[in-house]
Amino acid sequence: MANKWDERKKALEDEYFVKKEKELIEKLKARKQTETAQAVKEICRMRCPKCGEPLKERSFQKILIDQCTGCGGIWLDAGEMEEVAGREEGSWLGRLWQRTER
Ligand SMILES: [Zn+2]
Repeated sequence: MANKWDERKKALEDEYFVKKEKELIEKLKARKQTETAQAVKEICRMRCPKCGEPLKERSFQKILIDQCTGCGGIWLDAGEMEEVAGREEGSWLGRLWQRTER
């Protein structure tokens, strides 16, 4: 028959392993998301979604953006729009971003 201490120890152990397992799952999930995002990014980076021409990386205000060599369209990665708009506060881009954010 298990005494109170053993029960408590067992409960703590279970809790510990559940927590560790959760952490591991979260870590794996996060890694998978990053890997998927990177893979998608690489595929998208190669070709323009509009005309299919290759994209070329160029820097705009120290931010790397993708510009199409065919149609000249500019593609921003997630977060880049905020960065550009944030630096351009008060400009049309900053105002546009602030308006679309809501
Ligand atoms: Zn294009």
